[in-house]
Amino acid sequence: MFVTPMQLSSTEQDSWLQALLHTRTRSPATFEQWFASVGFEGIREGRVCLVARDEFVRDWVKTHFLPTLMDQLERLLQRPLEVAWTVDPVLPAPICPPSRRLGPSSSPSSVPPATPPSSPPEAAAERPVNSSGIRLASTPPHALAQFNPKYTFENFIVGSSNELAHAAAYACAGGGIPRYNPLFITGGTGLGKTHLMHAIAHKVLAMRPNARIVYVSAEHFTNEFIEAIQNHRMDEFRARYRTRCDALLLDDVQFLAGREQTQEEFFHTFNALHDAGVPIVLTSDKYPQQLQRMPERLVSRFTSGLVADVQAPGLETRVAILKKKAQIEAIPLSDSVAVLLAQKVHSNVRELEGALIRLAAKASLTGRSLDDEVMQGEIALVATASQRLVGLVDIQRVVCSHFRVTNADLMSKDRHKSVAFARQVAMYLCRQRLKSSFPELGRAFGNRDHTTVMSAVRRVESLRKRDPQVNAHLEAIERRLASSEQ
Ligand code: ADP
Ligand code: MG
Repeated sequence: MFVTPMQLSSTEQDSWLQALLHTRTRSPATFEQWFASVGFEGIREGRVCLVARDEFVRDWVKTHFLPTLMDQLERLLQRPLEVAWTVDPVLPAPICPPSRRLGPSSSPSSVPPATPPSSPPEAAAERPVNSSGIRLASTPPHALAQFNPKYTFENFIVGSSNELAHAAAYACAGGGIPRYNPLFITGGTGLGKTHLMHAIAHKVLAMRPNARIVYVSAEHFTNEFIEAIQNHRMDEFRARYRTRCDALLLDDVQFLAGREQTQEEFFHTFNALHDAGVPIVLTSDKYPQQLQRMPERLVSRFTSGLVADVQAPGLETRVAILKKKAQIEAIPLSDSVAVLLAQKVHSNVRELEGALIRLAAKASLTGRSLDDEVMQGEIALVATASQRLVGLVDIQRVVCSHFRVTNADLMSKDRHKSVAFARQVAMYLCRQRLKSSFPELGRAFGNRDHTTVMSAVRRVESLRKRDPQVNAHLEAIERRLASSEQ
């Protein structure tokens, strides 16, 4: 599971593994990513010899993991130990081999990570977790290193689905006092929220290379906060987030739901930064008002600037995105193939890119071009695969995106009004369009009883007739379903 040197005694080896496992339990995903950039060379003369890919990794691991790791190891070996660090950009044997690294937000995307397997971790606070992969320099860290070099404004295609979010993000990166603070970017997964955040960072750093941009996922903020409390390092934590911060970019803020202590801390962080005029950008898969288990005072802070959404892009935007991606990845892509593919994949940009990369890989492995007849057949297969999905899953997805709820919400037992209504609408549409049986639908919606589905369908049917607002919702969803069936 972990790579360990040969020359350890078996007790040392066992203890080392146990200590690693113990340390890992606290934050498996982050652990794997950091320890993919740390090697262990053995224990010599009372010293645990560690190698880090760069100073940044060394310092992070030193503060965040080493106290626990060394405590455990000393306890198990029953002797005091020291640590000897070296730095070597060409790390021979990382403790967690890169292939084992797990992305904390491991996405269903099949886009290969932009990070080469030998590069340092892509997770954690200064090097935030990002499912799309963040390329890091292997030399001593530079502020830019934590941001995906491909996630720039230049590489972001603007269409009606994202123009407000794009314009607001661009303005926010424009220097001086941002026009809207905070900027809250909301929208479904894979629609470019993280990309926009990185783009802001790139632009700010291009103008002010020393700007202290704190970019972190809400999940990591939470973990760091918990660690700070446990290790009595709150002063350090607050300095990082409140005083030594020129811009705060907090990704996936929905993760704070229900985490009261972290919410409280974040509330004060927010106020301190906001009062000082420091730009704050937040992203979320829901609108602030739809964030559940989020205190009102935070929701009202989130909405106090500008809330801008990103929607699924239309066909022209999808074609433009494919062309841009092909250009970045040096994939020869003709207009007709771009259009063909864009017509087939419409759920989100990540999937669209994934399909392109997969096809391009297949084409190059088989020595064909994407225009080749055989490849056209492959594209048609992508089509059938995705068209087969137009059905229950598609209806659920469109309903989720329309009402800004997640699929997990639909499946959950949550009876919150907005979630319950979205669920009922999805049941109604599935019944109408797919003619599925009530028990079948019950199973597809988090194993509910068929009578629940029956009453949901009946309720929406009757609401539709007498409530124009409900009818308008349904029509909007039906339009979207129709356009995705093309
Ligand atoms: P989110 O954070 O909303 O889940 P990401 O920002 O990770 O989504 O985007 C997923 C992928 O789609 C990334 O590779 C990103 O570069 C790409 N992408 C999304 N929107 C656009 C766009 N408008 N133009 C170009 N690429 C985009
Ligand atoms: Mg994201």
